[in-house]
Amino acid sequence: MSIISGALYVVATPIGNLGDMSQRAIEVLSGVVLIAAEDKRHSGKLLHHFDIKTPTMALHDHNERAVSESIVARLLGGEAVALVSDAGTPLISDPGYHLVAQVRAAGCRVIPVPGASALLAALSASGLPSDRFIFEGFLPAKAGARNARLEQLQGEHRTLIFYEAPHRIVESVAAMTGVFGADRQAVIARELTKTFETIHGDTLAGLSTWLKSDANQQRGEFVVMVAGAPLEDQEVDAETERVLRLLLAEMPLKQAATLAAKITGVKKNLLYQFALQLPR
Ligand code: SAM
Repeated sequence: MSIISGALYVVATPIGNLGDMSQRAIEVLSGVVLIAAEDKRHSGKLLHHFDIKTPTMALHDHNERAVSESIVARLLGGEAVALVSDAGTPLISDPGYHLVAQVRAAGCRVIPVPGASALLAALSASGLPSDRFIFEGFLPAKAGARNARLEQLQGEHRTLIFYEAPHRIVESVAAMTGVFGADRQAVIARELTKTFETIHGDTLAGLSTWLKSDANQQRGEFVVMVAGAPLEDQEVDAETERVLRLLLAEMPLKQAATLAAKITGVKKNLLYQFALQLPR
Protein backbone atom coordinates (compact mmCIF):
# COMPACT_ATOMS: atom_id res chain seq x y z
CA MET A 1 0.00 0.00 0.00
CA SER A 2 1.18 3.55 -0.56
CA ILE A 3 1.63 5.85 2.40
CA ILE A 4 0.37 9.39 1.90
CA SER A 5 3.09 11.92 2.62
CA GLY A 6 2.35 14.64 5.14
CA ALA A 7 -0.44 12.60 6.78
CA LEU A 8 -0.93 11.56 10.40
CA TYR A 9 -2.29 8.01 10.65
CA VAL A 10 -4.26 7.25 13.83
CA VAL A 11 -3.78 3.50 14.17
CA ALA A 12 -5.80 1.20 16.41
CA THR A 13 -3.94 -1.76 17.92
CA PRO A 14 -5.29 -4.88 19.71
CA ILE A 15 -6.80 -4.74 23.20
CA GLY A 16 -5.29 -8.09 24.19
CA ASN A 17 -5.45 -10.50 21.29
CA LEU A 18 -2.70 -9.89 18.74
CA GLY A 19 -4.86 -11.60 16.13
CA ASP A 20 -6.91 -8.40 16.07
CA MET A 21 -4.05 -6.41 14.53
CA SER A 22 -5.20 -5.47 11.04
CA GLN A 23 -3.14 -5.96 7.91
CA ARG A 24 -3.56 -2.27 7.14
CA ALA A 25 -2.27 -1.30 10.61
CA ILE A 26 0.88 -3.39 10.01
CA GLU A 27 1.44 -1.86 6.58
CA VAL A 28 0.91 1.71 7.80
CA LEU A 29 3.15 1.29 10.84
CA SER A 30 5.85 -0.23 8.62
CA GLY A 31 5.52 2.49 6.00
CA VAL A 32 5.56 5.72 8.03
CA VAL A 33 8.83 7.38 9.04
CA LEU A 34 7.91 7.73 12.73
CA ILE A 35 5.47 6.24 15.24
CA ALA A 36 4.32 8.39 18.15
CA ALA A 37 3.55 5.95 20.94
CA GLU A 38 2.00 6.44 24.37
CA ASP A 39 4.65 4.14 25.87
CA LYS A 40 7.63 3.27 23.68
CA ARG A 41 8.49 0.10 25.58
CA HIS A 42 4.94 -1.20 25.55
CA SER A 43 4.47 -0.53 21.83
CA GLY A 44 7.97 -1.83 21.16
CA LYS A 45 6.80 -5.35 22.01
CA LEU A 46 3.90 -5.11 19.57
CA LEU A 47 6.10 -3.69 16.83
CA HIS A 48 8.71 -6.38 17.40
CA HIS A 49 6.05 -9.08 17.17
CA PHE A 50 5.01 -7.82 13.73
CA ASP A 51 8.60 -7.16 12.66
CA ILE A 52 7.97 -3.42 12.30
CA LYS A 53 11.23 -1.50 12.47
CA THR A 54 9.96 2.10 12.29
CA PRO A 55 11.47 4.40 14.98
CA THR A 56 9.19 5.48 17.82
CA MET A 57 8.90 8.60 19.94
CA ALA A 58 6.98 9.01 23.20
CA LEU A 59 3.73 10.97 23.15
CA HIS A 60 1.88 10.87 26.44
CA ASP A 61 -0.35 13.14 28.52
CA HIS A 62 2.63 15.04 29.95
CA ASN A 63 4.46 15.95 26.74
CA GLU A 64 1.67 15.84 24.16
CA ARG A 65 1.37 19.56 23.48
CA ALA A 66 5.11 20.09 23.07
CA VAL A 67 5.67 16.95 20.99
CA SER A 68 2.68 17.77 18.77
CA GLU A 69 4.45 20.89 17.49
CA SER A 70 7.45 18.90 16.30
CA ILE A 71 5.19 16.29 14.67
CA VAL A 72 3.23 19.00 12.84
CA ALA A 73 6.54 20.41 11.57
CA ARG A 74 7.53 17.00 10.23
CA LEU A 75 4.13 16.51 8.56
CA LEU A 76 4.42 19.93 6.94
CA GLY A 77 7.82 18.81 5.70
CA GLY A 78 6.12 15.93 3.89
CA GLU A 79 6.81 13.06 6.30
CA ALA A 80 4.10 10.57 7.28
CA VAL A 81 3.68 9.81 10.99
CA ALA A 82 1.52 7.28 12.87
CA LEU A 83 0.00 7.54 16.33
CA VAL A 84 -0.64 4.49 18.52
CA SER A 85 -1.64 4.08 22.15
CA ASP A 86 -0.93 1.17 24.49
CA ALA A 87 -4.06 -0.65 23.37
CA GLY A 88 -7.13 -0.09 21.24
CA THR A 89 -7.97 3.15 19.51
CA PRO A 90 -5.86 6.23 20.31
CA LEU A 91 -7.76 9.20 21.82
CA ILE A 92 -10.37 6.89 23.39
CA SER A 93 -9.44 7.41 27.06
CA ASP A 94 -5.91 7.72 25.67
CA PRO A 95 -3.62 10.54 24.51
CA GLY A 96 -3.82 12.03 21.02
CA TYR A 97 -6.56 14.67 21.15
CA HIS A 98 -4.18 17.65 21.18
CA LEU A 99 -2.05 16.16 18.43
CA VAL A 100 -4.99 15.47 16.12
CA ALA A 101 -6.45 18.93 16.77
CA GLN A 102 -3.11 20.61 16.03
CA VAL A 103 -2.51 18.54 12.91
CA ARG A 104 -5.94 19.39 11.54
CA ALA A 105 -5.53 23.05 12.44
CA ALA A 106 -2.28 23.05 10.46
CA GLY A 107 -4.23 21.79 7.45
CA CYS A 108 -2.61 18.35 7.34
CA ARG A 109 -4.52 15.17 6.70
CA VAL A 110 -5.48 12.81 9.55
CA ILE A 111 -6.22 9.25 8.42
CA PRO A 112 -7.85 6.76 10.82
CA VAL A 113 -6.87 3.11 10.65
CA PRO A 114 -9.73 1.57 12.64
CA GLY A 115 -9.54 -1.53 14.76
CA ALA A 116 -10.19 -2.67 18.31
CA SER A 117 -11.76 -0.50 20.97
CA ALA A 118 -12.89 -1.99 24.27
CA LEU A 119 -16.10 0.02 24.45
CA LEU A 120 -17.49 -1.14 21.11
CA ALA A 121 -16.31 -4.72 21.59
CA ALA A 122 -18.08 -4.75 24.97
CA LEU A 123 -21.27 -3.12 23.75
CA SER A 124 -21.52 -5.43 20.74
CA ALA A 125 -21.62 -8.48 23.01
CA SER A 126 -23.58 -7.02 25.94
CA GLY A 127 -27.18 -7.59 24.90
CA LEU A 128 -28.00 -4.07 26.11
CA PRO A 129 -29.67 -1.56 23.76
CA SER A 130 -27.00 -0.45 21.31
CA ASP A 131 -29.00 1.94 19.12
CA ARG A 132 -28.15 4.87 21.39
CA PHE A 133 -25.43 4.89 24.01
CA ILE A 134 -23.04 7.25 25.76
CA PHE A 135 -19.42 6.64 26.61
CA GLU A 136 -18.33 8.15 29.92
CA GLY A 137 -14.74 6.88 30.04
CA PHE A 138 -13.36 6.55 33.57
CA LEU A 139 -15.39 7.85 36.51
CA PRO A 140 -13.59 10.22 38.90
CA ALA A 141 -11.47 8.34 41.45
CA LYS A 142 -12.77 10.17 44.53
CA ALA A 143 -16.10 9.02 45.96
CA GLY A 144 -17.71 12.48 46.12
CA ALA A 145 -16.90 13.41 42.52
CA ARG A 146 -17.84 9.93 41.32
CA ASN A 147 -21.25 10.09 42.96
CA ALA A 148 -21.84 13.58 41.59
CA ARG A 149 -21.08 12.32 38.05
CA LEU A 150 -23.35 9.29 38.51
CA GLU A 151 -26.15 11.51 39.78
CA GLN A 152 -25.91 13.60 36.62
CA LEU A 153 -26.47 10.39 34.67
CA GLN A 154 -29.31 9.04 36.80
CA GLY A 155 -32.12 9.91 34.37
CA GLU A 156 -30.13 9.12 31.21
CA HIS A 157 -32.12 6.82 28.92
CA ARG A 158 -29.27 5.73 26.70
CA THR A 159 -27.04 2.77 27.57
CA LEU A 160 -24.13 4.02 29.71
CA ILE A 161 -20.60 2.76 29.09
CA PHE A 162 -17.75 3.19 31.57
CA TYR A 163 -14.13 2.07 31.73
CA GLU A 164 -12.90 0.94 35.13
CA ALA A 165 -9.65 -0.12 36.75
CA PRO A 166 -9.41 -3.35 38.78
CA HIS A 167 -8.70 -1.60 42.09
CA ARG A 168 -11.88 0.46 41.77
CA ILE A 169 -14.32 -1.96 40.15
CA VAL A 170 -16.00 -3.09 43.39
CA GLU A 171 -16.55 0.42 44.78
CA SER A 172 -17.65 1.79 41.41
CA VAL A 173 -20.31 -0.85 40.87
CA ALA A 174 -21.44 -0.34 44.48
CA ALA A 175 -21.73 3.41 43.83
CA MET A 176 -23.72 2.75 40.63
CA THR A 177 -26.04 0.49 42.60
CA GLY A 178 -26.58 3.29 45.11
CA VAL A 179 -27.37 5.91 42.48
CA PHE A 180 -29.08 3.98 39.66
CA GLY A 181 -30.88 1.52 41.95
CA ALA A 182 -30.32 -2.13 42.81
CA ASP A 183 -32.60 -3.40 40.01
CA ARG A 184 -31.05 -1.61 37.04
CA GLN A 185 -29.66 -4.11 34.50
CA ALA A 186 -25.94 -3.93 33.77
CA VAL A 187 -23.19 -5.95 32.11
CA ILE A 188 -19.53 -6.24 33.04
CA ALA A 189 -17.10 -7.12 30.23
CA ARG A 190 -13.73 -8.19 31.61
CA GLU A 191 -10.49 -9.08 29.83
CA LEU A 192 -12.04 -8.86 26.36
CA THR A 193 -10.27 -10.87 23.66
CA LYS A 194 -7.99 -12.44 26.30
CA THR A 195 -7.85 -15.87 27.96
CA PHE A 196 -10.12 -14.96 30.87
CA GLU A 197 -12.68 -13.00 28.89
CA THR A 198 -15.90 -12.79 30.91
CA ILE A 199 -19.10 -11.04 29.94
CA HIS A 200 -21.58 -11.15 32.78
CA GLY A 201 -24.97 -9.47 33.03
CA ASP A 202 -27.27 -9.06 36.04
CA THR A 203 -28.92 -6.34 38.09
CA LEU A 204 -26.43 -3.88 39.61
CA ALA A 205 -27.04 -5.43 43.04
CA GLY A 206 -26.43 -8.89 41.58
CA LEU A 207 -23.21 -7.73 39.92
CA SER A 208 -22.02 -6.16 43.17
CA THR A 209 -22.49 -9.43 45.02
CA TRP A 210 -20.91 -11.45 42.21
CA LEU A 211 -17.81 -9.23 42.17
CA LYS A 212 -17.37 -9.31 45.94
CA SER A 213 -17.80 -13.07 46.15
CA ASP A 214 -15.02 -13.91 43.68
CA ALA A 215 -11.66 -12.09 43.82
CA ASN A 216 -10.80 -13.47 40.35
CA GLN A 217 -13.60 -11.39 38.88
CA GLN A 218 -11.94 -8.24 40.24
CA ARG A 219 -8.78 -8.77 38.16
CA GLY A 220 -7.91 -7.37 34.75
CA GLU A 221 -9.51 -4.72 32.58
CA PHE A 222 -13.17 -3.78 32.70
CA VAL A 223 -15.92 -2.18 30.72
CA VAL A 224 -19.08 -1.59 32.75
CA MET A 225 -22.32 -1.03 30.84
CA VAL A 226 -25.52 0.06 32.51
CA ALA A 227 -28.96 0.00 30.90
CA GLY A 228 -30.47 3.46 30.53
CA ALA A 229 -33.23 4.65 32.87
CA PRO A 230 -36.56 3.24 31.70
CA LEU A 231 -38.74 5.68 29.79
CA GLU A 232 -41.97 6.16 31.67
CA ASP A 233 -43.94 5.95 28.46
CA GLN A 234 -47.29 5.78 30.19
CA GLU A 235 -46.88 9.37 31.38
CA VAL A 236 -46.48 10.64 27.83
CA ASP A 237 -49.96 9.86 26.60
CA ALA A 238 -51.20 10.53 23.09
CA GLU A 239 -52.46 14.03 23.88
CA THR A 240 -49.20 15.06 25.56
CA GLU A 241 -47.26 13.71 22.60
CA ARG A 242 -49.50 15.66 20.20
CA VAL A 243 -48.84 18.91 22.10
CA LEU A 244 -45.12 18.20 22.20
CA ARG A 245 -44.93 17.45 18.46
CA LEU A 246 -46.82 20.64 17.61
CA LEU A 247 -44.42 22.70 19.71
CA LEU A 248 -41.38 20.90 18.34
CA ALA A 249 -42.39 21.96 14.86
CA GLU A 250 -42.24 25.59 15.95
CA MET A 251 -39.36 25.93 18.39
CA PRO A 252 -36.13 24.36 19.71
CA LEU A 253 -36.42 21.10 21.62
CA LYS A 254 -35.66 22.49 25.09
CA GLN A 255 -38.19 25.30 24.76
CA ALA A 256 -40.80 22.88 23.38
CA ALA A 257 -40.30 20.54 26.34
CA THR A 258 -40.59 23.42 28.83
CA LEU A 259 -43.77 24.75 27.27
CA ALA A 260 -45.30 21.28 26.83
CA ALA A 261 -44.61 20.61 30.53
CA LYS A 262 -46.48 23.80 31.47
CA ILE A 263 -49.44 22.89 29.25
CA THR A 264 -49.73 19.21 30.19
CA GLY A 265 -48.34 19.08 33.72
CA VAL A 266 -45.98 16.25 32.73
CA LYS A 267 -42.38 16.55 34.03
CA LYS A 268 -40.16 18.72 31.82
CA ASN A 269 -37.23 16.31 31.94
CA LEU A 270 -39.41 13.41 30.91
CA LEU A 271 -40.74 15.38 27.95
CA TYR A 272 -37.24 16.48 27.04
CA GLN A 273 -35.98 12.90 27.01
CA PHE A 274 -39.08 11.76 25.13
CA ALA A 275 -38.61 14.52 22.54
CA LEU A 276 -34.99 13.48 22.02
CA GLN A 277 -36.24 10.10 20.85
CA LEU A 278 -38.70 11.50 18.31
CA PRO A 279 -37.55 11.61 14.71
CA ARG A 280 -36.73 15.20 13.73
N1 SAM B 1 -7.92 3.20 23.87
C1 SAM B 1 -8.49 2.04 24.52
C2 SAM B 1 -9.73 1.59 23.72
O1 SAM B 1 -9.85 1.94 22.56
O2 SAM B 1 -10.53 0.84 24.26
C3 SAM B 1 -8.80 2.30 25.96
C4 SAM B 1 -7.64 2.76 26.76
S1 SAM B 1 -7.98 3.03 28.46
C5 SAM B 1 -6.50 3.74 29.03
C6 SAM B 1 -7.85 1.44 29.16
C7 SAM B 1 -9.18 0.93 29.67
O3 SAM B 1 -9.94 0.40 28.59
C8 SAM B 1 -9.07 -0.19 30.67
O4 SAM B 1 -8.86 0.30 31.99
C9 SAM B 1 -10.41 -0.87 30.53
O5 SAM B 1 -11.39 -0.14 31.23
C10 SAM B 1 -10.64 -0.74 29.03
N2 SAM B 1 -10.09 -1.92 28.34
C11 SAM B 1 -9.00 -1.95 27.56
N3 SAM B 1 -8.78 -3.20 27.11
C12 SAM B 1 -9.76 -3.97 27.63
C13 SAM B 1 -10.09 -5.34 27.56
N4 SAM B 1 -9.33 -6.20 26.86
N5 SAM B 1 -11.18 -5.78 28.20
C14 SAM B 1 -11.95 -4.94 28.92
N6 SAM B 1 -11.68 -3.62 29.04
C15 SAM B 1 -10.61 -3.15 28.40
